Amino acid sequence: MIAENLLQIKAQLPNHVTLVAVSKTKPQSAVLEAYEAGQKDFGENYVQELVDKEAALPKDIHWHFIGHLQSNKVKYIAPFVFLIHGVDSFKLLKEIDKQAKKNNRIIPCLLQIHIATEETKFGFSENEMMDMLSGSELKTLANIEIHGMMGMASFSNDQLVIQKEFQTILAIFKNIQNRNLFPHFNTLSIGMSGDYKLAIEKGSTMVRIGSSIFGSR
Ligand SMILES: *Cc1c(COP(=O)(O)O)cnc(C)c1O
Repeated sequence: MIAENLLQIKAQLPNHVTLVAVSKTKPQSAVLEAYEAGQKDFGENYVQELVDKEAALPKDIHWHFIGHLQSNKVKYIAPFVFLIHGVDSFKLLKEIDKQAKKNNRIIPCLLQIHIATEETKFGFSENEMMDMLSGSELKTLANIEIHGMMGMASFSNDQLVIQKEFQTILAIFKNIQNRNLFPHFNTLSIGMSGDYKLAIEKGSTMVRIGSSIFGSR
């Protein structure tokens, strides 16, 4: 079932959109099934679960951290993480840089934008993001690369609300991209099982899909 779901979704994605299969709370066997069907990029939300899966599963998997990352846990994923999606503070970015340096690598990061109306969603406001990006401190971090932005729409059934939120995220993304400050700023991670088609219409280059591939959690 997993392989079928995966291939069905993949067939619908334009070539410029990367599929991150969100495997949080699912067993290693489920990841392996998707991997054997050709999937290389997987997303996880919990540090311990990610560390355990990374140790046990094939080494050529690209592990994306898509959850809320606490600074004191960066060290556990720094040796191998492929892309960190949910960077929501300069403090966290500094810690990622420090741990990347210790591991002699550069860690690609996406800045999380807070656009949804829910209080519980993490991320920078537009102003906070702009301030940080234009600040001089960011340039001192040599072991991180800002590859783009990640966002989530409000938890809503109203397609128009979601569409508007994605549109806002896209406008901010393009605004930053047009400044040409960051050579790698070209990833827009928006879209989940319920809204990925809308997200692709609104410029997504990376979708994070869990339940439509692995079943409900
Ligand atoms: C769980 C999760 C997803 C996947 O959600 P589905 O609705 O199962 O596709 C995507 N992004 C983030 C940040 C998540 O936490």
